[in-house]
Amino acid sequence: MTQRSITVIPGDGIGPSIVAAAIRILDAAGCNFSYDYADAGLVALEKHGELLPQGTLDSIAHNKIALKGPLTTPIGGGFSSVNVALRKYFNLYANLRPVVSFEGTHSRYENIDIITIRENTEGMYSGIGQTRASDNNSGEATSVITRAGAEHISEFAYQLAVKEGRKKVTIVHKANILKSTSGLFLDVAREVAQRYPQIETNEMIVDAVCMNLVMYPERFDVIVTTNLFGDIISDLCAGLVGGLGMAPGANIGKDVAIFEAVHGSAPDIAGQNIANPCSVILASIQMLEHLSGQDNSMQEKAERIRNAMRNTIKQGHTLTRDLGGSASTTEFTDAIISNL
Ligand code: NAD
Repeated sequence: MTQRSITVIPGDGIGPSIVAAAIRILDAAGCNFSYDYADAGLVALEKHGELLPQGTLDSIAHNKIALKGPLTTPIGGGFSSVNVALRKYFNLYANLRPVVSFEGTHSRYENIDIITIRENTEGMYSGIGQTRASDNNSGEATSVITRAGAEHISEFAYQLAVKEGRKKVTIVHKANILKSTSGLFLDVAREVAQRYPQIETNEMIVDAVCMNLVMYPERFDVIVTTNLFGDIISDLCAGLVGGLGMAPGANIGKDVAIFEAVHGSAPDIAGQNIANPCSVILASIQMLEHLSGQDNSMQEKAERIRNAMRNTIKQGHTLTRDLGGSASTTEFTDAIISNL
């Protein structure tokens, strides 16, 4: 089989060390990728004078798959988020954020297994109409929901539920108040739900979802929602399994997909070799699962890596500080590789 090339963006802060850990594990599992390294974020600004160089966009467009470390967005100076720019440039309309409990992490719950599917390009993050009055006494932003966008993301959620043998999709909205935007989203999601009678559909208002996720997380399976609600709910879900260090995210479009750690560049611990690489390792597992449509050996490799990570955390003697241990990123990665 020809070697598949993927774009790797190590990113800023702890990014290079946790992405290197994930790459070592992919190689040890025999994935046989070639890596096209590209810059984005602060490191790109320093090297190339821009946060998102054209060469990086070209590399992703060519390879169609990227594994990305966290990026630092400089505060002030009119810098906008590189992550948002990437989602818009490649129309990565679906943000897929699974959370799963791993025995041995210090989390409040066991047996959590929830996928949040967030619309990634519209809603309150449309970027349209962001104005602040010159007297600084008012601000405005425009939320945009389109039928096409709502249909795309709802279809994505139901198709994923079918593919992964999931039982229930919860449509999360605020249609009682936001009648034009959330109302349209709910109407379209309901239409899509009717095409999938084998999947149970549940509708819930976002505030009730937050309370229920904290009290009865076992009631949730797949969640589909708009951009802002999905952003908040997916962090809440990460909290159910021990925090952002255990949460990966996939940004998926028609042609391109970018897989990333959900947390930021953690400048407070950068360069110390103590960061937990699990989030980006889980993102690389999502990447293998995404590629399994083209190469069915990828699913087996994804399972092997997930099991090795699960066993390492369960054994509990070689864990990074945030997981309750004292191992370095390198030692923790070595332990996962020896469990492969
Ligand atoms: P952060 O997620 O970087 O850090 C929050 C806290 O969690 C810190 O104490 C950090 O040490 C800890 N932490 C995060 N990841 C960890 C890991 N893998 N292992 C151990 N501890 C970890 O959030 P922040 O400090 O608010 O943001 C820092 C920078 O990251 C900002 O510039 C922000 O814009 C950027 N950011 C990028 C992304 C992304 O690229 N996807 C996401 C969020 C924030």
